[in-house]
Formats: sequence, C-alpha cells, structure tokens
Amino acid sequence: MQLLSDALLRVQPSATVGISQLARQMAQAGTDVIALSAGEPDFDTPEHVRAAAVAAIGAGKTRYTNVDGIVELKRAVAAKFRRDNGLDVTEDDCFVAAGGKQIIFNALLATLNPGDEVVVPVPYWVSYPEIVRLAGAEPVFAQASQETGFKLTPEALEAAISERTKWVMLNTPSNPSGAAYSADELRGLAAVLMRYPNVHILTDDIYEVLVYDGREFATIAQVEPGLAGRTLTMNGVSKSHAMTGWRIGYCTGPREILKAMTKLQGQSTTNACSISQWAAVEALNGPQGFLTGWREVFQERRDMVVARLRACEGLDCLVPEGAFYAFPSCKALIGKTSAGGRALATDEDVVMALLEENGVALVHGSAFGLAGHFRISYAASDAELIAAMDRIEAFCAGVR
Ligand code: GLU
Repeated sequence: MQLLSDALLRVQPSATVGISQLARQMAQAGTDVIALSAGEPDFDTPEHVRAAAVAAIGAGKTRYTNVDGIVELKRAVAAKFRRDNGLDVTEDDCFVAAGGKQIIFNALLATLNPGDEVVVPVPYWVSYPEIVRLAGAEPVFAQASQETGFKLTPEALEAAISERTKWVMLNTPSNPSGAAYSADELRGLAAVLMRYPNVHILTDDIYEVLVYDGREFATIAQVEPGLAGRTLTMNGVSKSHAMTGWRIGYCTGPREILKAMTKLQGQSTTNACSISQWAAVEALNGPQGFLTGWREVFQERRDMVVARLRACEGLDCLVPEGAFYAFPSCKALIGKTSAGGRALATDEDVVMALLEENGVALVHGSAFGLAGHFRISYAASDAELIAAMDRIEAFCAGVR
C-alpha cells in the first residue's frame, strides 16, 4: 500500500523553504554561504511589540483563544483595513491564522473541489499553485513577463477565466517580481472581474507597506467596492513588523467564507499562538513611524542591488516597485558554462552553480513559474548584499 497520500504526491516542495534550508545546512557544515533565498526582513521586531508579548505572558494569556482570533486583534485588524485600505468592515468580518500561508490554505481548502480552477498570475509565489493542487483543484496560469512589468493585463486575466474558475489570485507588491499594481491597473483587472460574478478574488497584500518611489499602495476591494462581497483581502504582520517567526496572518472577506475557514482551522491548529496575537494587537494599534525608516533602507538596498545586477554580464533587471525582491533575467547565461565547468542549461543550473561555486543562495525563476530568471531577496544587511553582489558579478564574469 502506498504510504503517502495522493494529495501530497500532487504537491512540489517549497523551493524558497528548501533552498534556504540547504543554505543553512551548508553554513552549519562550515561553508561560507550568503543566503538571499528566503524573504524575511533582517530587522528586529520593534521593541514595543516584543514588550506587549512579554506582558501577555506575564498576564497569563497562555490559553486557547477563539479559533478566528482574539476579539482585540480582530478589532485591530478591522481598524487597519478601515484606516489604510478604506474597507468598510468590523471585527466580525475579520479572521486570524498562523501566518498568511494558513489564511490561503484555509480559504482554498475550504472552498475548492476537484475540477475547480484557480487563476494564478505568473510569476507567482511558490505556494499558490501547490495549495490549489493539494485541495484537488487546478491552477490555471495567466502569463505576465518582464515585457509587461511582470503584471497581469486585463486581456491575460480574461483569457484565463473559465466557467470553472472559483478564485483569481492577486499579489501586490509581488513576490517574486516586486511589481506593484497602481489603482488604475487594478481598475482594469476589476472591470474584467465585474463581468464574472461567480469568481472570487484572493489578494495577498502581505508586502503592502513596502512600495517605493512615493507610490501609493492599492488593493482591489478598495478600488472597486463592487468586488468587496467576493474578495478575500489577506495581509499579516510578518513583513510589515518584521514578525515572520511569530506567525500571524489575517484577512477580511465574505462571512460565509470566514465561517468555513473557522470550521477548517478548528480541526487543525485551532488558533494562532495566543502570545503572538497579543503582540500583533500592539503591532497594528501601536506607533507605525518606524516603517518610514525601514522603507527608506529597503529602497536604498534595492537601488544598490539593481544597479549592480545591471552591471553584471548576462543579467538584465527591471526596477522592482515594491516588496524586497529583484527578479533579473539570466537568459543570456543559459546555454553557457560556469567557471567551475557546470553546464548552465536552465535557470536552476545557474542558481545551483552560484550556490556551489560562489556561495550565494538565490531561488530559480522556474520555481515561480517563469524560467530564465532568478529571485534575489535584498532583505539583508548592506555588508551581506555587497559581498553577495561581488560574488554574483564574479560568477557572471566567469561564465563562458
Ligand atoms: N514568503 C517568503 C519567501 O517567499 C518566505 C518563505 C516561504 O514561505 O515561501 O521567501
């Protein structure tokens, strides 16, 4: 009898998590590796947020909570969606889980059946299609490319929608490309979605606070309130407050879907960690001033990394508008040979050669659905980024 489930066998392992783990193992074994493979801020969780968690432990907030989150956090989430996104919601429209990934997991597993389709714009975050497949449904890829600024056009969206489409995934700013949709660009997509009343929208806004060059963040339910009744707007404190390890994601959306997610989560993790929830209350309600400084630091790092990537032989890079990733094309290196003698037949070969020969961990574009690219996270210290860029430049110069 087969040990593993058919559902698990349909799923690919996470490349972002896998390469980061490989880089950690290499470092533990004494290899000099700079890991720019996982996307997480290198800043510490702000002091006032950590203090709130310590206070929660002291006050004995250590028991199970409501499945969908403590009322105080759902109120803070609702206030955030009203304040920052103009969404007309109360705490009864909000839901909390152990990270953004669990929000997506709950929403898709609670709603998808075999034969259902989910439109996933390319390039996508590695986990979207795999969660769709785990739920027994089919991802349908809507193509974007460097030529469209890695953005989905209304035409490409419409071409991907069928009678079986249950969800359309959106992600702005995007992981892996850093593309951030303007309100106008979202209006163009919303006009298409208004014509398909059975389609739901799941928007992953986890990089909301990281938009650069004075851009304004926009989310689809805000620019087209006519879609709010079928949009799940997902966010979290991982990226905004450097709280990746605390595992707090949240969302607002149709109550029927939130109720289904509550039923599912009640049979899995029950609730997100109680201490983390109290910390997230402080993160959302407390001072947000530090974000301006973080954004400036990320923008400076972006500028440095993009300039250096552009100067590398064989690489070509758009300026990302948000998040903390750059997604250069390495197509000109493909078909060549690395200085260490590896045949570079694919973007994955490029990334593995860079890791093994030059000690920089990145993630290949094909893991995000777009071959011929790689993703570099610039959520790392200046010293690490400069050293990594020196190595990438040396690697490219050595390719023959
Ligand atoms: N979102 C981050 C990334 O893409 C964290 C790793 C993951 O869960 O994929 O690197």
